Amino acid sequence: MSLKKTHSFWNTLAFRLTLWYAGIFAVSSCIAFLLFYMLITSVIRQRTDQELLSQVVQFSAVLKARGLDAVENYVFLEAQAAGVKKVFFRLLYPSGYAFSSSNMSYWEDIGVRKTAIENLLRGSSHVFDTVILRDRQDRVRILYALISPGIILQVGQSMDDHSRIIEAFKRIFVITMALLIGLAAGVGWFMARRAVSGVETITRTAQSISGGTLEKRVPIESRGNEIDQLAMTFNQMLDRIQTLVTEVKEMSDNIAHDLKSPITRIRGIAEVTLTNEKSIDEYEGMAASTIEECDRLLDMINTMLMISKTESGVDRLSREEIGVEGLVREACELFEPIAEDKGVTLSCHVLNKSHLVGDNRMIQRMLSNLLDNAIKYTPSGGAVSVSVSENDKRDVVITVKDTGVGLSPNDLPRIFERFYRCDQSRSQPGIGLGLSLARTIARAHGGDVTVTSALNQGSTFTITLPKLIPAQS
Ligand code: ADP
Repeated sequence: MSLKKTHSFWNTLAFRLTLWYAGIFAVSSCIAFLLFYMLITSVIRQRTDQELLSQVVQFSAVLKARGLDAVENYVFLEAQAAGVKKVFFRLLYPSGYAFSSSNMSYWEDIGVRKTAIENLLRGSSHVFDTVILRDRQDRVRILYALISPGIILQVGQSMDDHSRIIEAFKRIFVITMALLIGLAAGVGWFMARRAVSGVETITRTAQSISGGTLEKRVPIESRGNEIDQLAMTFNQMLDRIQTLVTEVKEMSDNIAHDLKSPITRIRGIAEVTLTNEKSIDEYEGMAASTIEECDRLLDMINTMLMISKTESGVDRLSREEIGVEGLVREACELFEPIAEDKGVTLSCHVLNKSHLVGDNRMIQRMLSNLLDNAIKYTPSGGAVSVSVSENDKRDVVITVKDTGVGLSPNDLPRIFERFYRCDQSRSQPGIGLGLSLARTIARAHGGDVTVTSALNQGSTFTITLPKLIPAQS
């Protein structure tokens, strides 16, 4: 489908909504008109029938009181009074023969319906009939009634007046409908435009964003309607995208920076190896340095891969039953010699016998990262302590507390970002991924890692882990 076609006026939501609105309005108006029309025609017919029946009553009374001659005279007078083109009367024998009538010059084409007379003779008190005169476009309502034994009155009344009322009603309806449908289309268009204008603003913002400006946001008019909700969701999504883009940019800058140093060093070693002749020991030393730099690079790349795989859920966590006491004691034993070498006291307080289900290897890695940092950033003479407890939600809480260099309020919110390293720790080895990985592992288990710290007073890192990994992790 071409872009032009997609954006054609006929395909717009506003046009379709208007069409629906006007269409539904027209259909419901037509139904209302039809019902009204049926009501009017039935009321008019009932009134006509009532008039015809009252004529029969009058004729019967005249016949009874004054005899047949008076009736014949009455026939003539009544037709004259009402108008010879409006009504006619015939007096018939049961054979259908008309022995007397009003002036019938206008009604010559109306005969006597045999079936009506048969019905009367079978006992019906009266029979109604409608005759349509096509050449004059007139309808005549006719009543047959026995006014005395052996005398039938046929009385007919033109419905021309009624037809004219109905015709006028139809004309008024068509004109009113045309005006109302026009109005409905106008109102529908206005309403549809108002409804979609918010969507258009969002579309315009999205278009300008695809043109390269991630800073733009959709204005929210605080009406609290669906469009505002959409705009808010859209803006939140943009905030998230902007954060992600900034993070990706920062991360790629950091990766480039962190890759540059070891690669430059490896290149330097290779260059020195090539330029002067060296002793075998020197060559061995250079090879060892190259391996060391390569290991550093590999460690960095592997940690990055681990973070992104854990975050995206590509690496499924294994679910093993882990005794927290054993896990923490093992980690402390592993780091004991390193702490001792540095002159840092490492103490382990594990009275809690909790068990949890999780990925043992990952949790060990997380705890090792925190212990490694605690010892690394605590000067000689300081202390690191590890303890285990449970919070009120019965989650396992592992705390790694040190009396080390601590963190400034500026660094505190950023230390879990990838590649972030505080200025005072640049002298220490590290790549700035340890805490990021620790938090990713904790979150993959449905928990978290948090920190409280004060500069030059030490830091406390707290791992919280639920005993079971939540279903969505
Ligand atoms: P690194 O490899 O640099 O240790 P991390 O992601 O583990 O990377 O830590 C990020 C930064 O947070 C560190 O560079 C350091 O500045 C700071 N940090 C981490 N742990 C501690 C701690 N226990 N005491 C003080 N600073 C810490």
